Amino acid sequence: MKPNVIDEIVKNNLCIGCGTCAGVCPQEILKIQDNEYGEYIPYETQMCDSGCGLCLEVCPFGNNENETQMGAKIYGSTQGMKYLSETGYYLDSYAGYSSEFRQSSASGGMAAWLLTKLLKEGIVDYVICPTSQKNPEKLFSFEIMSDENSVKAASGSVYYPVEMSEVIHKILEVPGHYAVTGLPCFVKALRLAAQKNRKLRERIVFTIGLVCGQMKSKNYTKYIAAIAGNNDLKKVQSVYYRGKSPEKPASNYYFQSTDEHGSQHKIFWNEGVSEAWINRWFTPNACNYCDDVFAELADVTFMDAWLPEYSKDSMGTNLVLVRSPEILVFIQEEIGKKEINVSKIPIEKVIKSQMGVLDLKRNQLSYRLYIALQEGQKVPEKRVHPKEKIGVLKKREIKLKARMQKESKELFLDYYKDTTLDIKTFRDGMQPYIKQTKQLRSVGKLALPIQIIKKISRREGNRR
Ligand SMILES: Cc1cc2nc3c(=O)[nH]c(=O)nc-3n(C[C@H](O)[C@H](O)[C@H](O)COP(=O)(O)OP(=O)(O)OC[C@H]3O[C@@H](n4cnc5c(N)ncnc54)[C@H](O)[C@@H]3O)c2cc1C
Ligand code: SF4
Ligand code: SF4
Repeated sequence: MKPNVIDEIVKNNLCIGCGTCAGVCPQEILKIQDNEYGEYIPYETQMCDSGCGLCLEVCPFGNNENETQMGAKIYGSTQGMKYLSETGYYLDSYAGYSSEFRQSSASGGMAAWLLTKLLKEGIVDYVICPTSQKNPEKLFSFEIMSDENSVKAASGSVYYPVEMSEVIHKILEVPGHYAVTGLPCFVKALRLAAQKNRKLRERIVFTIGLVCGQMKSKNYTKYIAAIAGNNDLKKVQSVYYRGKSPEKPASNYYFQSTDEHGSQHKIFWNEGVSEAWINRWFTPNACNYCDDVFAELADVTFMDAWLPEYSKDSMGTNLVLVRSPEILVFIQEEIGKKEINVSKIPIEKVIKSQMGVLDLKRNQLSYRLYIALQEGQKVPEKRVHPKEKIGVLKKREIKLKARMQKESKELFLDYYKDTTLDIKTFRDGMQPYIKQTKQLRSVGKLALPIQIIKKISRREGNRR
């Protein structure tokens, strides 16, 4: 019997809930369901007596090949391909937006534009991406779409668990060419599954990646809906995470929830959403062990243009990293035409736009791996090595956020009763951490000039 995902991944709290294991299980005994924290995990509907181990072989948190090794196989021999350890393989990079899709999309609408274009031109028969379900317990799920309007309606970022087991079953059943959107770990899972399954390999013709800093649980959405003013969280039927306001910069977007009676509640990023996001409240543990920023195995990756020259524009702008020669031609052909407004941007700028996520997934990851190993936890093999040496303030920040990550999940369970969250008591429980975060930030502000002074005096000393 080969090891399986339940013993190796779920029991070690390393599952991101992508659903790929359940999608490919030949016995169909794995099913995906919520755990108490509002995260998806697989469970066995009956004892596995085959022990084929396929579930673990397709799991992005199993010790399978890493993104660099897989990327080399997929893209390494393509003409004009370049490689950087931060981005993985890439052909070219662009900045821009689609005028038609920008308003309803997360950033510049380039992802929705490309997906609808692939359908319109008959390059794919189906697009698979998450879409709203109007179901309070399952606000979004991956769906298969064959018309452009549905794809347009599905635009926007989904900071909510979605899993792929059902759509993988459908791809295996129904022949055709599919384009699938996904976060880096989901794209890796699809690539691993495609290595093992000919139908998936032939039918998934494009993977459309999104840069990812972290995922959030269902309870995160309940929390922000509650602070936005929803009293009865069982009645929240739909949410939108990235509303745009003309008077605000792109970074200060709003979350909006709509209940079954149509009443809407809105809260801006800097009115409480950012506190939960940045401090990693409700983030799955698996995200602590992720080193892929740019969805290195996707044919094209979309992200926000978090650069000063773009982020003031409330409508949002994309940066785009292209790996597929077909998609490159597709974008190049559109330059100068009406549909999209894009231009080339140096890869250094793309990297600069995601410096925070790179620090999180490379530098901070080294220290997280070190701590986990010290505590005897099982962690997946990563491309960065465990490392204790990291600044004192950084160490405190990482530890503090790890505590908030755990505590937010437990406090939510304690104070979510009868479909209502007792926000005050929840926040009172988080208060000591919020206080420490503020203290750490002020020490950081003081430490910076001291570091600069030290650097200058070292330099002066060297000159003498
Ligand atoms: C959890 C998460 C974390 C992210 N973190 C970052 C970050 O740190 N930095 C950054 O620059 N960008 C990040 N992004 C990407 C960013 O939010 C936008 O999705 C990206 O810029 C594309 O914008 P767009 O306007 O082109 O997309 P749109 O035109 O709105 O199209 C987005 C497409 O992706 C699909 N989609 C949305 N959410 C998901 C999901 N969870 N899984 C699979 N498909 C999905 C939609 O259905 C739609 O088809 C993140 C996205 C998500 C979902
Ligand atoms: S991460 Fe995905 S493939 Fe791995 S156990 Fe979880 S649901 Fe299954
Ligand atoms: S941070 Fe990594 S593990 Fe978490 S959802 Fe994003 S890509 Fe997946």
